[in-house]
Amino acid sequence: MSRDDELQHTTAERSIWTGRITALCGATAEAGEYEVIWFAPFGPRCSECKRLAKSDR
Ligand SMILES: [Zn+2]
Repeated sequence: MSRDDELQHTTAERSIWTGRITALCGATAEAGEYEVIWFAPFGPRCSECKRLAKSDR
């Protein structure tokens, strides 16, 4: 796993059926990676997700 994968992304969409997650920035992950990527407590926030989340609200 690269360091980029430790970024905290903001979830935009999650499929109940496949568990596939799409972040605001377009990054995707499978269910097994969800906790690692999206809830990494020590990872820096994905700046792209942060920016998109702000402009979205
Ligand atoms: Zn992101």
